Amino acid sequence: MQAYITLGSEKHLRAAKNGFEMLQTTQSFVTGGWGPDESFGEPGRGQLGDSLSSSHASFETPCGAYGHFKITRYLLSVTQDPQYGDSMERVLYNTILGAWPIQADGTSFYYSDYANTGKKVWYGQKWPCCSGTFPQLAADYHISAYLRSSDGVYVNLFTPSKVQWNNASGRFALTQTTEYPFKNTVKIQVTASQPAEFAIYVRIPAWTVDPVLSVNGKRVDDPARPGTFAAIKRTWSEGDRVELELPMHLRLEPVDANHPKLVALLNGPVVLLAIADGQPTFDTNGLLQSKPTNNGKGDWVARSVDGSEITMRPFMNIDKENYSTYVLLKT
Ligand SMILES: [Zn+2]
Repeated sequence: MQAYITLGSEKHLRAAKNGFEMLQTTQSFVTGGWGPDESFGEPGRGQLGDSLSSSHASFETPCGAYGHFKITRYLLSVTQDPQYGDSMERVLYNTILGAWPIQADGTSFYYSDYANTGKKVWYGQKWPCCSGTFPQLAADYHISAYLRSSDGVYVNLFTPSKVQWNNASGRFALTQTTEYPFKNTVKIQVTASQPAEFAIYVRIPAWTVDPVLSVNGKRVDDPARPGTFAAIKRTWSEGDRVELELPMHLRLEPVDANHPKLVALLNGPVVLLAIADGQPTFDTNGLLQSKPTNNGKGDWVARSVDGSEITMRPFMNIDKENYSTYVLLKT
């Protein structure tokens, strides 16, 4: 990406796009994490599903997420293709935000564990590589949330935040309030020292259905389409507000084509992991008819084939409990 940005070398841009596509379509788990045992495998051989029974070193989380944010941010800024933002938020909510914080003596979180039955553990050595990339990644959250363009600003991540800029026509800011991804609404308030024309581009994730985008309480004429940046170009004034609703639906994703019965449950961008001491078995309805507990931690409850209620929990809210990222579908 540096070769493209510095020299305009198209072949390097193609290499970055193709490399990322290979990573995403052949090496990635449902969380957006990739590369079990810090390796890539031959595509199409079922190596991801096989790794669930052979390895607990599923994704080197701080280093991998740091690299993932970096390549997706570059690709996003050059192409304005929102799939890179979708990929970034998948990694954010399901990998790095669930990493335990670094301890004062260098004790660090390293691998996410997607094994059939997994748990979070500390890494064996103090101050590993991941103790360096974790703070680097956190320090970059602000440049990943918003991107500038010649005609306005891209809102890429939905997080409580404020972005400010000054130019010849005045001083401006966007203030975002949201409890996303646990609530599906986002509000953006405009601050403007005087009215000015610019574009606000809002990422509409590919997984949503029938999103609603409004300005000052009125739905925008051009409907927001999943998998695009919705462009709102107008003269913005102090106090204008953008409201976005992104309906979330439960869905299943198999680990790979070779293991169609090993599936993970998602709601919007968030993977829901089964809290259990052994990998539970479900039928499809038992998963897709899960109910939210509204406990403020994003927990859901699913019913397994033996009739027991299983808590389904986002990775970021798991502590020491055993879990299964992928569960078995009854054959
Ligand atoms: Zn590392």
